[in-house]
Amino acid sequence: MPPVSGDIATHCPYCALQCGQWVDGDGRVDAREFPTNRGGLCQKGWTAGALLAHPERLTTPLMRAHRDEPLAPVGWDTAFGYVAQRLRALRTEHGPDSVAVFGAGGLTNEKAYLLGKFARVALGTSQIDYNGRYCMSSAAAAGNRAFGVDRGLPFPVTDLDDAEVVVLAGANIAETMPPLMGHLSTARLVVIDPRRTPTAERALASGGLHLAPVPGTDLVLALGMLHAAVVDGHFDADYLIERTTGFDDAWRVAAQWWPERAERVCGVAAADMRTVVGWLAGASRRYVLTARGAEQHAHGVDTVTAWINLALALGLPGCPGSGFGTITGQGNGQGGREHGQKSDQLPGYRMIADPVARAHVAGVWGVDPDSLPGPGRSATELLAALGRPGGPKALLVFGSNVAVSAPDSRAVSAQLAALDLLVVADFLPGETALAADVVLPVAQWAEEEGTMTNLEGRVLRRRQALDPPPGVRTDLEVIAGLAAELGVTGFPADPETVFDELRAASAGGLADYAGISYDRLDAGEALHWPCPATDHPGTPRLFADRFAHADGRARFLAVDHVESAELPDAEHPLRATTGRVLVHYQSGTQTRRVAELAGIAPESFVEVHPDTAARAGLAEGEWARVVSRRGTALARVRCISSLRPDTVFLPFHFGAEQAANLVTNPVLDPISRMPEFKVCAVRLEPA
Ligand code: SF4
Repeated sequence: MPPVSGDIATHCPYCALQCGQWVDGDGRVDAREFPTNRGGLCQKGWTAGALLAHPERLTTPLMRAHRDEPLAPVGWDTAFGYVAQRLRALRTEHGPDSVAVFGAGGLTNEKAYLLGKFARVALGTSQIDYNGRYCMSSAAAAGNRAFGVDRGLPFPVTDLDDAEVVVLAGANIAETMPPLMGHLSTARLVVIDPRRTPTAERALASGGLHLAPVPGTDLVLALGMLHAAVVDGHFDADYLIERTTGFDDAWRVAAQWWPERAERVCGVAAADMRTVVGWLAGASRRYVLTARGAEQHAHGVDTVTAWINLALALGLPGCPGSGFGTITGQGNGQGGREHGQKSDQLPGYRMIADPVARAHVAGVWGVDPDSLPGPGRSATELLAALGRPGGPKALLVFGSNVAVSAPDSRAVSAQLAALDLLVVADFLPGETALAADVVLPVAQWAEEEGTMTNLEGRVLRRRQALDPPPGVRTDLEVIAGLAAELGVTGFPADPETVFDELRAASAGGLADYAGISYDRLDAGEALHWPCPATDHPGTPRLFADRFAHADGRARFLAVDHVESAELPDAEHPLRATTGRVLVHYQSGTQTRRVAELAGIAPESFVEVHPDTAARAGLAEGEWARVVSRRGTALARVRCISSLRPDTVFLPFHFGAEQAANLVTNPVLDPISRMPEFKVCAVRLEPA
């Protein structure tokens, strides 16, 4: 649809597809032609403008001296002065690591960058991490160790248009990113998911397959398929020799997982494994894509690695028209993990423990490299340490609702309550903001400038269409204001100035943005990182000639099946898995407040096989208690005859007593420190 005069070209505030939008001066949204969405939006994108003038919009700082008092409006000077005074006192008494910072994968690149700098330079704390730890860290770690770099899709999504076969491992994109399905319309799809999701239905309609493994056994399925690929002669021997290392080690494990043995563990028919491998091998344009279903496990890095091993054996990564990729979830899930809000990273995807990286970034920041703290705790470990001896006593949260989105959320709420100081910057009163001592009201997507990096590593301009309400500041202004109050210089609030500093800090790093400028983006250039110089065209496709390891080769890694951390037993006989629904996003802070979306999905539910429901004394539409070893979530029963009888599903978008994370297990992947959201043991009871 052509724009009306005065509309601003920007992108949806929600997921990593970053669909193109027009937004006018009254906050009305229209779909915009852009390669990822081709003029389409999902219901979330269409209704995003409803939150700009929402009656619950935060428009003034709120404060309270004691948690048993209500939050009351104050001026910005009072709020900044109080926060700075409390932070100074805590740091003096307990040291810099007594203050922690929690960021988000929805923050712009500029915010993620400045927040990381604020933590390391203004606060001097190592205690910073972000909610991307919950959704992309296993894929990122697997990509780094296999390919030497982590860019979710190392090719543009438009490359998928001509795909003949696409395997989606743990991805329900028909609900999470509906416009992305438009790029898969000609492909035979294979969907791997314990649930028969709308994406699985599309797979069946495409002449493909829906494979439904037991939750927590995806890695076995991938091993069985690798075994089939090798034994049935489908591996690409020339590719293995020329472009990879480590096959023999990986094969030593996969050799023990012949498809029939894998079937006994994962529940997927051996014949289906062989069929899918045959389809991949017989096509000339084929892809394997993973998402949260493969990643959110205590062994998520190894599970993603197992899918990469299969893709490498078939010769997919780096070949024209084929590839391996991971589908990043949050709006800036890709850029948000590149520029320093992660506990172990500095801008440009540099590692904070690397002396060369520290020297480079310290040079840009004008500080002594030795003054930069080392790696801090990961998100789950950081939250678990709050208020404990030796743990942080103050937490500053930007753009995240950890009281709902973190695993074992009842424990998280108790840890937030144990803090001396909780400060939350948000634009709506989410559950975490309502638990805070100080709430700072910030601008929304259509009220600010910045950049986002979408799921294909393309840097995009977020543009301001209207002013924020009076009294509201941008996140950058909040960070700059707090730094000024702390007496620290070097924290500009202008987005382009921050971006130019980010470019310098990222220069020479894996995620090199040095050649990307607002001018180039505003001129319409499609720039994917790395883009090391202003005359560099960007890199839409990685790995065409070499992978990012020093020897240019991709790594097979030997990975084997390990049981989920928590298995069903007599008391908790079912496996619970969690995920998203079409009309809600993340913790639901935003979408639960959009009347049109809340009307479609107003409350939590538990999908359960009718026989399993009957055994628990439950029927369709009744309220159930979903009970794990950590807590109980309330959900309305939906009987789904296609669901595995040993499995139940909960959406994670709801708060209070309906929060799915009341039951989830905070056990972590040993490499990525990602929690095991995708499987824990539960029982059902009538509520
Ligand atoms: Fe597009 Fe994602 Fe926004 Fe939906 S939520 S409109 S798929 S960017």
